[in-house]
Amino acid sequence: MKPSILDFTLEELKTKVKPSFRAKQIYNWIYVQNVNSFAEMKNIPKDLIASLEEEYILNPLEIARIEESADGSKKYLFRCQDEYTMEAVLLPMKKEERNEEGKITSETKYTICVSSQVGCKIGCAFCLTAKEGFKRNLTAGEIVAQVLTLKKENNIAVNRRVNIVYMGMGEPLDNINNVVQAIKVFNEEDGLAIGARRQTISTSGLSHQIKKLGEMDLGVLLAISLHAVDDALREQLMPINKAYNIESVINAVKDFPIDQRKRVMFEYLVMKDLNDDIASAKKLVKLLHGIKAKVNLIYFNPYPNSPFKRPTREGMEKFKDFLNDHGVLCTIRQSKGLDISAACGQLKEKTDNDLA
Ligand code: SAH
Ligand code: SF4
Repeated sequence: MKPSILDFTLEELKTKVKPSFRAKQIYNWIYVQNVNSFAEMKNIPKDLIASLEEEYILNPLEIARIEESADGSKKYLFRCQDEYTMEAVLLPMKKEERNEEGKITSETKYTICVSSQVGCKIGCAFCLTAKEGFKRNLTAGEIVAQVLTLKKENNIAVNRRVNIVYMGMGEPLDNINNVVQAIKVFNEEDGLAIGARRQTISTSGLSHQIKKLGEMDLGVLLAISLHAVDDALREQLMPINKAYNIESVINAVKDFPIDQRKRVMFEYLVMKDLNDDIASAKKLVKLLHGIKAKVNLIYFNPYPNSPFKRPTREGMEKFKDFLNDHGVLCTIRQSKGLDISAACGQLKEKTDNDLA
């Protein structure tokens, strides 16, 4: 695999090209002008273009397939240089609004859900990504390329801010170095300029890595995939709980630096007759005591032969109301597209089956 130029922060690129002021121009061509090749960088001398072409690939991903869901979310299956595939999802969070004269009063807000690994080592029982095992970590450039490509493909203006959630395939904190590098590249003012506060890392709860990420104090937001309130059930669903139990995750969250105006998100995948009872909701309230938290309930999205069941709407509402009535902010993840994307890995599975 050829390294990608998207791997580098501006400072790093300055050490790689001579003279160093070219780095900023190159950054502009890539992230602002959206060029598809080094050859299009008009103010860059030919010999520098030739050496860039020799050393780096500009975009390390190819689009293998696109699937659009009824609510407007779009899933992209990407092929990496070594033929592995993974996916990213574009989620319009709010529709464009216009006034009576047809003028746009509020623009669509986008969230991009990115993958951090091909496959995953964590092996959660409910997750399709887990089924294919772990292949490899994505490089920083491959993470950056997902956002760059989705913005470009959907004509999302360069200066339009998008939110990034690391909720695609893989466990981001199991690839912390490349993920942190991607966060820094996204941050670059001369590049995509996506601040850390617009980026949410979702983790199955690798407590020691949550601590490490917290110590870096990057300003990123944190989402914890909790899914169960007692260790016995959580161990069954998420084997990682044997190494890092609920208490250790909660303690790591309590130490995590978070903007006063923000909250730590707790994702709770609801499975019928398993974790959807009010006794669990009660325990959850107790568990989150003292944390500025927000609970996001996710409908389990069944796939062929999945042993778990989708909860009823009524069950979800009851669970949500209980939390809200007891002082824990709680919402239900509404959009179907979001359900499917939260269950990233499903598009890939489908394509693999189609191609088989
Ligand atoms: N590995 C990280 C981030 C990727 S998983 C983590 O687990 O947090 C992103 C989300 O997809 C997780 O909250 C996970 O619980 C959810 N998910 C996995 N399988 C799902 C399914 N079948 N239906 C709905 N959500 C699912
Ligand atoms: Fe990995 Fe997250 Fe799926 Fe668990 S839910 S197997 S941590 S991707």
